[in-house]
Amino acid sequence: MKDNLTLDQALDLLEKHAAEADAAPSWPATSWDALRRCGALGWIIPREYGGVGLAPLELLERYQRLAGACLTTCFLLSQRDSACRRLRDSGHEELCRELLPALASGQRFATVGLAQLTTSRQHVRPVLMARLEGDGVQLDGVMPWVTGAPQADHFLTGVVLDDGRQMLLVVPRDAAGLSVGPPMDLMALQGSLTAEVRCQNVRLERRWILAGPAERVLAGGRGGAGGLETSGLALGLAKSAIAYLQKEAEKRSEWQARATACAESWQALQEQLRRLASTGADAHAASNLRAKVNALVLRATQFALAAAKGSGFLRTHPAQRWARQALFFLVWSCPAPALDATLTCLALPE
Ligand SMILES: Cc1cc2nc3c(=O)[nH]c(=O)nc-3n(C[C@H](O)[C@H](O)[C@H](O)COP(=O)(O)OP(=O)(O)OC[C@H]3O[C@@H](n4cnc5c(N)ncnc54)[C@H](O)[C@@H]3O)c2cc1C
Repeated sequence: MKDNLTLDQALDLLEKHAAEADAAPSWPATSWDALRRCGALGWIIPREYGGVGLAPLELLERYQRLAGACLTTCFLLSQRDSACRRLRDSGHEELCRELLPALASGQRFATVGLAQLTTSRQHVRPVLMARLEGDGVQLDGVMPWVTGAPQADHFLTGVVLDDGRQMLLVVPRDAAGLSVGPPMDLMALQGSLTAEVRCQNVRLERRWILAGPAERVLAGGRGGAGGLETSGLALGLAKSAIAYLQKEAEKRSEWQARATACAESWQALQEQLRRLASTGADAHAASNLRAKVNALVLRATQFALAAAKGSGFLRTHPAQRWARQALFFLVWSCPAPALDATLTCLALPE
């Protein structure tokens, strides 16, 4: 098709619009369209549903490149892909045929509101409840965090029944009783349009149930909270800061050794990530890696900001954006063991 882009061309466009995507609470339309034009919307979707079905390692590497160019757009894609992955792996053939081709072509957008089952509001009563009744299911409560919510046609979410069992569901945007709150005022990644989604007496047919009722409906799924992809995105962001440092160090030899040390730490963590991704990571290994990656992305982006000095503090310079965006990895998809390991790294640096 004549409006196709290569991945490199799409990355250039993403980089060009990254400051705006980070700062403005509006849909990053040009960058999202660049993803569509380079085929990225089909990466996670199997061929039989109109995608290309990339292998997990290849996908991880491409996410990293996108994250290095524009973390906001890459984050939107990762949340959409999380919805596509859960749908793809559900074995729910009818819904896959109905939704995945339109997601692969970019005609529709879906996202996830799953944190209420994993990393959000775990110390209070479940915030999104459901009741099975007759041939349907009724939802009441909130999905506290949903990225890209104002743009979504479908929400992939997790609910809790009165007896404590959980279910995964797809909720169509036009379901009566569903409302999307305004985009939250975020310290970075404003274009992610993260919002709360409220469900008040939302009634759905049972065909929208993807999994459950079960005790832990997300157990065993790939790409869950704190998974390797989150570490991959953080490494992608760190790489941009480190590339900047290395370039600066060419002009300032006193920084050479420290820039090289950062690059070597990055390489070691990248190899660890690849190893875990190809052999299958257990939760403990994934949490430890996440903590080390969190520490590196914070250090590397702050080093870049310090090196860029006052000029780097200006909104026009990418260093301030990298440093703010790095903080996102302290709070996004960081389950208790990963948070614990991160706090240990921060409290007791080597
Ligand atoms: C920009 C952004 C985008 C996101 N996008 C998505 C998305 O698209 N989909 C998705 O599913 N999730 C998303 N998340 C959610 C994310 O992965 C985490 O779940 C979320 O950051 C957890 O924060 P919380 O404030 O809800 O945590 P909570 O644990 O609910 O904490 C809320 C408050 O209570 C306090 N608290 C926690 N535990 C206790 C306790 N035991 N006792 C007393 N106080 C306590 C905390 O310190 C905090 O101040 C997003 C988050 C952010 C920031």
